[in-house]
Amino acid sequence: MVTSSHAAWSLAIHGGAGTMTREKLTPDQQARHREGLAVARDAGAKVLAAGGAALDAVEAAVRVLEDDPCFNAGRGAVFSYDGRNELDAAIMDGAGRRAGAVAGVVGVRSPIGLARAVMDDGMHVFLSGVGAEAFARGKGLELADPEWFVTAERRRQLEELKARKIGTFDVDLKYGTVGAVARDMAGHVAAATSTGGLTGKRWGRIGDSPVIGAGTYADDRSCAVSATGAGELFIRANVAAQICTRMRLLGESAQQAADAVIAEVGELGGDGGVIIAGVDGSTAFSFNTPGMYRARADSAGLSEVAIFARE
Ligand code: ASP
Repeated sequence: MVTSSHAAWSLAIHGGAGTMTREKLTPDQQARHREGLAVARDAGAKVLAAGGAALDAVEAAVRVLEDDPCFNAGRGAVFSYDGRNELDAAIMDGAGRRAGAVAGVVGVRSPIGLARAVMDDGMHVFLSGVGAEAFARGKGLELADPEWFVTAERRRQLEELKARKIGTFDVDLKYGTVGAVARDMAGHVAAATSTGGLTGKRWGRIGDSPVIGAGTYADDRSCAVSATGAGELFIRANVAAQICTRMRLLGESAQQAADAVIAEVGELGGDGGVIIAGVDGSTAFSFNTPGMYRARADSAGLSEVAIFARE
């Protein structure tokens, strides 16, 4: 996998890792995903190029992906087994390691905006379910009818899973979580992740995305990480925090640390991937699936959108 050059600001995003191959995705599907990734990346890059904070950049990029029905977050989120869109999200600021996270949220337009509100409020780090929804209403955040999140494709995936009596890990194109990591001109890093979780997940199931240290982590002493994949394994391997710690204590590069931790996930029987923004301005991707929707940009002119492992 490739590591970018050092830069004054940098941003990387993902739209999920999974079984996508050139044969499985139609040219139209490929084009729609690439377009969606480019728009989200540019929204984040614009914040950073104007001297804005990494925290604002990752939120801006993830909000765009949440509203894009191609991805499993916000609108277009997958369904739980009983047909609901229960959303998880987290955001973390590498400066001071402040964090906000929400799990199992229904009817809030932007789960990442809600996670940010939890962080800014400062009293708690992690809110769930009806308590998180009440908090959103109290803060005056935009709500959305449950129908807003529904897409025909996600319904079809749930019906297929039920008809075939297969588990959540066997659905094709399974991971579509979105995330962003960035380093700003002031040298701060931040990470954000938002997801509908896994198709057919059990009511009340929480994945890795909102778990600080598993699917999301940021630390100005090393890097920012956002993950996508088999959440249970990412929680058990403490993926995002492990990558940051390896860089800080072992002196590994972002790529080395990410590859080592993704290999551990593989040994445990899981698949997926991560994006990393180092405090040195580098970015890296690592995944053990055939593809990962991803994009990045930096102040040195790097500009990339990719789906498949080899491109
Ligand atoms: N990691 C997410 C979860 O387990 C799923 C994904 O990446 O799409 O909830």
